[in-house]
Amino acid sequence: MDKDHKLGFNSLAVHAGYHAKKGPVNPPIERSSTFVFDSCRDGADRFASPLKDGIYSRLHNSNCDALEKKIAALEGGYGGIATGSGMAAVETVYYAYLDPTSHIVATSALYGPCRSIVEKKEFYAKWGIRSTFLDTSDVNKVREAVEIPHTKLLYVETPANPTLAITDIKQMSIIAREANIPLVVDNTFCSPYLQNPIEFGADISLHSMTKSIGGHANAVGGMLIAKDEETYYYLRNIVTNRGGILSPDNADMFLSGVKTLGLRMERMQQNAITIAEYLNKHPKVEWVRFPGLEDHPQHDLVKEGRQMKGPGCMMTFGVKGGYDKATVLLDNLNLITLAVSLGGVESLIQHPASMTHAGVPEENRLQANISNDLVRISIGIENIEDLIADFDQAFAKI
Ligand SMILES: *Cc1c(COP(=O)(O)O)cnc(C)c1O
Repeated sequence: MDKDHKLGFNSLAVHAGYHAKKGPVNPPIERSSTFVFDSCRDGADRFASPLKDGIYSRLHNSNCDALEKKIAALEGGYGGIATGSGMAAVETVYYAYLDPTSHIVATSALYGPCRSIVEKKEFYAKWGIRSTFLDTSDVNKVREAVEIPHTKLLYVETPANPTLAITDIKQMSIIAREANIPLVVDNTFCSPYLQNPIEFGADISLHSMTKSIGGHANAVGGMLIAKDEETYYYLRNIVTNRGGILSPDNADMFLSGVKTLGLRMERMQQNAITIAEYLNKHPKVEWVRFPGLEDHPQHDLVKEGRQMKGPGCMMTFGVKGGYDKATVLLDNLNLITLAVSLGGVESLIQHPASMTHAGVPEENRLQANISNDLVRISIGIENIEDLIADFDQAFAKI
């Protein structure tokens, strides 16, 4: 192949990070906590190296290494750091950049625990860390909220969970640069297939790999992707020393899952577009929010692929008659599964106010536009006729 030929997303998903020339096609799972040194010189050299490979598996192992290189290639970052969960990735970033009495500006409709570990007394608030949670799709409000020099971190989730409000990453990066603070983007909802925050100026992109990267609801893990070498080693040192690492076994699960990420996202997105149109026309549905619909407030960031390469697989809607009627729908779906999590091959439906976001006080939920009637659905790869038939029979019970 021509040296200058650039591989496409699916080719990278299969081959980046580990491409065998002989022997097993997949990296063997390295179930060894420690590694033999050739000599004292070798041991000393390995401890002196920044990557700390070939020493001890909390510091480095070949399964996590292959996965980290693969995801970093998909995200266009300098390097990846695998973590034991998505929350371990999020918490690493908070720990890395927040000092006692400092301030964070973040999206108000964050994945529930990402917000509560900042606000709750038993977590970061106990060190006097202050926070401003706001709708980061409003660029001017974000600029006003950043307090130079107290604000130490700009943290964005886009599209936001579960409101699907979309934040302009490029605009956020301009604000972050003015304040000389890092911009971190939780890219879980889009996956690397639909959005690459580093390309738009983010310093760090992070994922709950539990969702679409793994894709099969069979492992929990997270990933930090740093834009440059300095950020990479700074975060890597924190993860390996604080201990929130991913196991080689789970790294292997994600290495398998991510190979089909592009194919799965295409199918899920196609299904989601059809379901959004179906719900939008349904007489028992009050409202639908989906980035692919014309009436989405930030539809322009999706339309021409300006930031997101497509609308994704997540949508929210309200049933006429509110929560009580919605429970009838949710309790009667057969194929579409009543469960939290998202981005996998199976369609999952849930009610954020009583489930994923129950830990966020109602006042904060409403301020973040998480209404009590809001139902969230993640569309999977099932046959579209079957998903519609399931909705038809469950709606008929209301
Ligand atoms: C699930 C999720 C997390 C947390 O990830 P875990 O793997 O469950 O720890 C963080 N952010 C978003 C957007 C998520 O959906």
